[in-house]
Amino acid sequence: MNWARQIHIKNEAELKKMREAGRTNAEALAAVRDLLKPGITTAELNEAAEDVLKSHGCISPFKNYGHPPFPASITVSINDELVHGIPSKKRKLRSGDLVSIDCGTIQDGYIGDSAFTAGIDELSPTAVKLLEVTQGALKAGIDKMRAGNHTGDVSAAIQDYVESRGLHVTREYTGHGVGREMHEGPQVPNYGVIGSGTLLRPGMTIALEPMVLVGTAETRVLPDQWTVVSADGSLTAHFEHTVAVTEGEPILLTAL
Ligand code: MG
Ligand code: MG
Repeated sequence: MNWARQIHIKNEAELKKMREAGRTNAEALAAVRDLLKPGITTAELNEAAEDVLKSHGCISPFKNYGHPPFPASITVSINDELVHGIPSKKRKLRSGDLVSIDCGTIQDGYIGDSAFTAGIDELSPTAVKLLEVTQGALKAGIDKMRAGNHTGDVSAAIQDYVESRGLHVTREYTGHGVGREMHEGPQVPNYGVIGSGTLLRPGMTIALEPMVLVGTAETRVLPDQWTVVSADGSLTAHFEHTVAVTEGEPILLTAL
């Protein structure tokens, strides 16, 4: 990953634009969520998100990102696939799958970045717990997104929430500042030490994204050079919101 590490504090006008990008992104994710059922291809999910983005005159920052260039506007990661799964006409969702969708939107020069995981039909108890814990970890992290706290407080809250429930957080992939660039500073890992890291200030906009694994923290990348899977084949989940630090409560920029 090529990270621009600079931290850019956003003013009110910029936060408003980020909220608009975040809302469009949420619409795209909602359109995908509505289609989740056995038999649909992951390419069809990508098309649904692209249709929403196009209707707002937007594109995804994921398209053509990186090396090799990512070929789609969303990532679709199923079961042991943690993040960065490539949509395909050949890949169909099946009953019992746990599917993670990550989408980005560039609107008026600013980016919204958000992800969710959902089950297809009935899930195993392990999958249900994984979903609840990953979503809870995101909420625990967001609760620490307050001026005066440090990024380490956010990271530690996510790590503690997950590990105290017997699950694992990835070490290789992290939350990040977001704005005009998809990856700005500060970096916000899913593990950390209270009081360490960057001081949070009003106007910082950060994508928090707990990536949680059932059996191990270790991952590997498939030969397609994108898809990240758990090293032991165990289930994984991923939730993400772009969040603004304010003088008061954190604002969810990627809510509907
Ligand atoms: Mg994302
Ligand atoms: Mg992100």
